[in-house]
Amino acid sequence: THYLDRIEALNPQLNAFITVDRARTLADAAAADAARAAGQAGLLTGVPMVHKDIFCQQGWKTSCGSKMLDNFISPYSAHVVEQCHAAGLVTLGRANMDEFAMGSSNENSYYGAVKNPWDLNAIPGGSSGGSAAAVAARLTPVATATDTGGSIRQPASHCGVTGIKPTYGVVSRYGMVAYASSLDQGGPIAQAAEDCALMLNVMAGFDERDSTSLERAREDYTRELNQPLSGLRVGLPREYFAAGLDADVAKVIEDAVAELKKQGAQVVEISLPNTELSIPAYYVIAPAEASTNLSRYDGVRYGHRAAEYKDLVDMYEKTRAEGFGAEVKRRILVGSYVLSHGYYDAYYLKAQKIRRLIANDFKAAFEQCDVILGPVAPTAAFNIGEKSGDPVQMYLSDIYTLSVNLAGLPGMSVPAGFDRRGRPVGLQIIGNYFGEAKMLNVAHQFQ
Ligand code: GLN
Repeated sequence: THYLDRIEALNPQLNAFITVDRARTLADAAAADAARAAGQAGLLTGVPMVHKDIFCQQGWKTSCGSKMLDNFISPYSAHVVEQCHAAGLVTLGRANMDEFAMGSSNENSYYGAVKNPWDLNAIPGGSSGGSAAAVAARLTPVATATDTGGSIRQPASHCGVTGIKPTYGVVSRYGMVAYASSLDQGGPIAQAAEDCALMLNVMAGFDERDSTSLERAREDYTRELNQPLSGLRVGLPREYFAAGLDADVAKVIEDAVAELKKQGAQVVEISLPNTELSIPAYYVIAPAEASTNLSRYDGVRYGHRAAEYKDLVDMYEKTRAEGFGAEVKRRILVGSYVLSHGYYDAYYLKAQKIRRLIANDFKAAFEQCDVILGPVAPTAAFNIGEKSGDPVQMYLSDIYTLSVNLAGLPGMSVPAGFDRRGRPVGLQIIGNYFGEAKMLNVAHQFQ
């Protein structure tokens, strides 16, 4: 009730939620209390949480921030939702997000922009802006989120909270509305690394319903939290500190590195030479995958359907014209174009080759260091409306996050300081494949 009351009081300003269902939350909380009374409580039984509106949850509207799914009550739950439910976590509501997770500012939601709790004129970041804003405003202790090109790390950074995107394949995508399937990965946003570790323990795990889910032994992500950092080799990619990085952000990251050095970490300069190419490669591959994933929204099986139409093709056209927002349409157009006959080799295939080069850059870098540190975004949160008219400017702000997804690596953001306007700045920690426990340890020692 503490959190529900807080949501009621503060959400009208923040718009971090798409759905809140007080009666249902209270019923779930009562069930958790009963489990506790019966001696069946686990570590997280009764802990309130929020799901990004991209995770299907049985009986809850799962809109994915789109008019297309505004009428969609999910008949089943995502693997992540099932796991959270089984652990006894109680859902407070469903977090606002950019439509189909396409965006970096949360201005692309059908339900309106989310405000940054630190400054209501600022964006909270995207696409998981509702999750990050809700944690930052203490409307929930933890939230789920997804990261296709930065959507966990960047809003966590802009809202001064902690978030981790695991290695691709660690968290099941079953029931997570698909954007770009080869890049999408779920993960937690919380106040601190320790809470992220506890949440990841619940969210991760093999699931045969996702063909890219990895069959690995269960891990305890808290196991390395208290290790000293002495001897840890920390790589600083030259390309992450080049032109375009805001001076205040650079200073916060330098101070963070100095702090880790004080704790015994060794700093090595590394190079990720293809960093710049991550933007064109990502903005070919992600729209290509999105254009096919979103072909399912045809008005026939579920979701929005135009009220009036002449024939089947007219129904498809009107449904999609009405149901999708401008950015989603832009991605579908770009994606269909780069996959089309005659352009496939020049764009899509080329982008896939660059993707391999980017993964190889990281492979070489991890021969010299254990974790990579850098900024999450070139600036702290920008103002609402500042970049919404210029998609290319918006895409450029993803420069430090996209390569991690293209390589399938884990990445996280941990609060590190503020810019001169008092807007939060996150430190990005990039790990090698399955390096989550080590990254969480670095973050925990830093916090
Ligand atoms: N900003 C990127 C995009 O718009 C990443 C979004 C995400 O990670 N879901 O595609």
